[in-house]
Amino acid sequence: MTKAVVIGSGFGGLALAIRLQSAGIKTTLVEARDKPGGRAYVYQDDGFTFDAGPTVITDPACLAELFTLSGRRIEDYVDLVPVTPFYQLRWEDGDVFDYVNDQAELDRQIEARNPKDVVGYRKFLAYSEALYHEGYEKLGAVPFLDFKSMIRVAPQLMRLQSWRTLYARVADFIEDDHLRQAFSFHTLLVGGNPFATSAIYGLIHALERRGGVWFAMGGTGALIAGMVRLFEDLGGTVRLSAPVEQILTDGNRATGVQLAGETLEADLVASNADVMHTYKALLSESARGAKEAKRLAKKRYSNSLFVIYFGLDREVPNDLEHHVILFGPRYRELIGEIFKGPELAEDFSLYLHAPSKTDPSLAPPGQSAYYVLAPVPHLGAADIDWAVEGPKYRDRVLAYLEEKAIPRLRETMVTCRIFTPADFETELNAHMGSAFSLEPILTQSAYFRCHNRDDKISNLYLVGAGTHPGAGVPGVVGSAKATAALALADFGRPSAVAAE
Ligand SMILES: Cc1cc2nc3c(=O)[nH]c(=O)nc-3n(C[C@H](O)[C@H](O)[C@H](O)COP(=O)(O)OP(=O)(O)OC[C@H]3O[C@@H](n4cnc5c(N)ncnc54)[C@H](O)[C@@H]3O)c2cc1C
Repeated sequence: MTKAVVIGSGFGGLALAIRLQSAGIKTTLVEARDKPGGRAYVYQDDGFTFDAGPTVITDPACLAELFTLSGRRIEDYVDLVPVTPFYQLRWEDGDVFDYVNDQAELDRQIEARNPKDVVGYRKFLAYSEALYHEGYEKLGAVPFLDFKSMIRVAPQLMRLQSWRTLYARVADFIEDDHLRQAFSFHTLLVGGNPFATSAIYGLIHALERRGGVWFAMGGTGALIAGMVRLFEDLGGTVRLSAPVEQILTDGNRATGVQLAGETLEADLVASNADVMHTYKALLSESARGAKEAKRLAKKRYSNSLFVIYFGLDREVPNDLEHHVILFGPRYRELIGEIFKGPELAEDFSLYLHAPSKTDPSLAPPGQSAYYVLAPVPHLGAADIDWAVEGPKYRDRVLAYLEEKAIPRLRETMVTCRIFTPADFETELNAHMGSAFSLEPILTQSAYFRCHNRDDKISNLYLVGAGTHPGAGVPGVVGSAKATAALALADFGRPSAVAAE
């Protein structure tokens, strides 16, 4: 029986393990940490449940497909509920925009800002739909292994002006400054600077409008638990607290992985770990590892994040929605500093997650759970000692949040923890503490991203944020589909099972 080892249980690793196991490959998922999920880890503190990372679940169909592969139903494993508004956007001048899926309500709010932008928005939506069709539906789960594959799609990419930045394209359609922010900030959710990232990422807007924004009852951790249960029901094995030390190779073949004091042999190995960590650390004993790590060192990496998880001894304030974006006084300049450093900016733009609004069970009765995150430079862009600066930055963010969104926050706070760029590096092996791996710019996308199968080691596969199509839950789940199709074809399994 063909045996596979998947290193790392992020959404990408789990989705790949499910696809391999569904196709009859005996798969072991090996995770360094004590819980599965990767960036979707869960903290249980003082009766509160905090999802560490992804909270906005889009394109639920790509998740449901993992279950239908083996004739199962996602509803039997996890309860996904729609969230409305998708996001509430707030600016310092008091402007509030409820980003909803209802066209009439959107038009009403756009008209109140700038009547001309109602038509402009419709044009942007049509453009976003075209991007979605070409970039996500057609190419989102296609492995780009050679340059020819890139040449083949070049005409579509040119037609959609994908060499332009997302912000520039949004500005072609929309005049109002706040609305330009409202329809361009999304790339930040996958580690992209809207002023540098290809306009192709404008597809996220259509993805949300078509598929909605969802939340897993019990938190994203419940979705991860559902995926783990599916994998185990299929006969897969999960090994937690089992960091891989080395991917074992014999010439240009991977033969298994080395754990502390134990070897797992495999016919194929797939890594969901950070791409730099995979080559630099896990392939340190192979010439291929050093060579690829040197190439990856020259790439641009996404920003990091500073996250504060906190619980309050009272319910969510009435005026607060589940997902809130608080725009600071500067947009373009702040984002520039987040991506380039070299300092931590004085101001910030924040994403506030208030899941108790949808699911009160995430906090003790009458209380409420939150996280707030600020995009910050990665460790290579700003040399910050987070052990010293982290607590100070936390205090500044909480004071701002208290003033702008949650009155009496600090006096009602009963639990609090932080996660800094240094933690991304040490806890997740993330290169320079990047939260989203390689920056999603055109010259690091598709063929120019890490390939879903290594170019030299023919049975070594990659999956997750550093591979095509990139970060975000639908992105890494799409990468698993691309990787599985390759692996199953290589091992003579019907590809119809992997990529129907
Ligand atoms: C705070 C935050 C909020 C986010 N919010 C959203 C959101 O709302 N919606 C959305 O779609 N996306 C969101 N994202 C992005 C999304 O979470 C990620 O792009 C995605 O989850 C990454 O998945 P992955 O498959 O690349 O694996 P990762 O989650 O990066 O997991 C990799 C796994 O590999 C393991 N590993 C590493 N080294 C080893 C080793 N040597 N041995 C064994 N295991 C190892 C790690 O422990 C980890 O579990 C967010 C990200 C963050 C950080």
